[in-house]
Amino acid sequence: MKVLIIGAGGREHALAWCVARSPRVTEVFVAPGNAGTACEPRCRNVDIAPDDIPSLLRFASEHAVDLTIVGPEAPLVLGITDEFSAAGLRCFGPSREAAQLEGSKSYTKDFLARHGIPTAAYATFTRQDFDPEWIRRQPTPLVVKADGLASGKGVLICASHAEAIEAAQAMFEGRFGPAGERIVVEEFLQGEEASFIAMVDGQHVLPLATSQDHKRLLDGDAGPNTGGMGAYSPAPVVSPQVHERIMQQVMLPTVRALADENAPYVGFLYAGVMISADGQPKVLEFNCRFGDPETQPILARMRSDLTELCDAALDGRLAGASVDWDPRAAVGVVLAAAGYPDSVRKGDVIHGLEDAATGDGKVFHAGTARRGDAVVTNGGRVLCAVGLGETVGEARRQAYALVNAICWDGMQFRRDIGHRAVAREGAAAQSQRQPST
Ligand code: AMP
Repeated sequence: MKVLIIGAGGREHALAWCVARSPRVTEVFVAPGNAGTACEPRCRNVDIAPDDIPSLLRFASEHAVDLTIVGPEAPLVLGITDEFSAAGLRCFGPSREAAQLEGSKSYTKDFLARHGIPTAAYATFTRQDFDPEWIRRQPTPLVVKADGLASGKGVLICASHAEAIEAAQAMFEGRFGPAGERIVVEEFLQGEEASFIAMVDGQHVLPLATSQDHKRLLDGDAGPNTGGMGAYSPAPVVSPQVHERIMQQVMLPTVRALADENAPYVGFLYAGVMISADGQPKVLEFNCRFGDPETQPILARMRSDLTELCDAALDGRLAGASVDWDPRAAVGVVLAAAGYPDSVRKGDVIHGLEDAATGDGKVFHAGTARRGDAVVTNGGRVLCAVGLGETVGEARRQAYALVNAICWDGMQFRRDIGHRAVAREGAAAQSQRQPST
């Protein structure tokens, strides 16, 4: 079986690595891939951009690709799945219409409201109908979001009304390009975030292992928002009860409603949820693909054959499917380039990759490229070091052992990935030591 993975990031390296382990798979193409995917056994990079759909289609036809898995959102929103399907090619990902769940925040908020799926209260505006008075009537903080795709950067949390009005105006003036022509302003939700990712076959939802990522750049969840500085799986905040609520109140009604609205969803479906102190989930966002960096720790735990699960989803057979997981926890620590998340410096030589490759765990590449014999930085998030362990604490130790082997000029990373889960583990151990009364 030949598989094509579309994308160049850490998620795609993890997908390629995971798929290449399947005994059914003879060859994995990654378009365009990175320096990590280039070195994986049975994997080969193909120099085609993820949004060049005609070239991807031609390549997949000419090479008789049996299964295509789309990593990033942009080609999905552009309709790659529709075009592959029309050409008789099997492509795992939602149609252009279903991918609007990620492509337009106002579409999603209206969809959630229409179907009574829990989410923050909101209003949408364009420059023409913007109403600063509405903003002044809301409690603060407020969250201002560009409607369209903005590489995970179009969300601003505003402490005051003035800040929210300024953020809205900056968006209308083009701060995020056309993505900010329409905006969503919403209530700030308190709680703990989790990523709930599932495979969907149009009707049925197969939940994957839970995870939590760390969006802020700096330790203690400080600094600017990023694409994600690390993630771990499982996420203890998603207790069995919270898991059931997310399935019943969010995932199943969403998939049912899309099917009813003639946009059946097939692909990875990612709900970013805020879980309140009393365990009630509210949807922050949907992504129409696997998360990055959640994919890396989640797939490090997957024992099932991902290609079989994708085939089952494409054939509408997920009803009885299950996934076999490594019971250990996984922690992924992102190593980012100098300047990230603003103007990123490229071309710094990365040292220590060979040493790290001999350690336990796995280093997934993201923004890397080969220059002669060296591997150099080639994007904002450069690597993700994943460790496994009986507890999140142990997995974290293994991940940071890998991190310590690697360096380059200006390398940035957080030292506290998994801190909430580690604190929970500490509290649980403490309560076990207390004599019961
Ligand atoms: P989004 O792309 O909509 O998920 O937003 C990016 C990040 O901004 C989320 O992961 C949250 O950390 C934060 N965020 C978004 N919306 C809200 C909200 N309504 N309340 C609190 N935090 C939010």
